[in-house]
Amino acid sequence: MQKVDRIYFDIDGVLKGTASPQEDIVALLRYCLDNYAGCIYWLTTHCRGGENHTDFALRGELPDDLVDELYSKVLPTNWEAMKTEAIDMDSDFVWFDDTLFESEKMILEQNYVLDGFFKMNPKDPDMAKKALDFLKGFRRETL
Ligand SMILES: [Mg+2]
Repeated sequence: MQKVDRIYFDIDGVLKGTASPQEDIVALLRYCLDNYAGCIYWLTTHCRGGENHTDFALRGELPDDLVDELYSKVLPTNWEAMKTEAIDMDSDFVWFDDTLFESEKMILEQNYVLDGFFKMNPKDPDMAKKALDFLKGFRRETL
């Protein structure tokens, strides 16, 4: 993977329920919003089956104005059984999640895109920082 053109975010264990300090999570999200506008997608049980409850899930976890901005700018996905249904396998994506089911892992492997999965360890207090460092390693393509 040489570049990133899509970012998928889980919520539980990634943006909430994690040992990472709030300021690091905010910094990660800020970087994504500033550098990947229009290319950030929800990939969480809080947004599936045509319903988006991500604002409800994040209210109280992050500053209200950031929750509102995320709700308006992060794009919803629609999936039913496996999160991989919502992933564009032809894109250069990063998927931040604390869980990867075996069935999902198989799909990623079959599409040769397993390297797009970035495992977030909720118990690691440096996890949000590591995710940000990872993203900063990719240069945004200039047009
Ligand atoms: Mg999770």
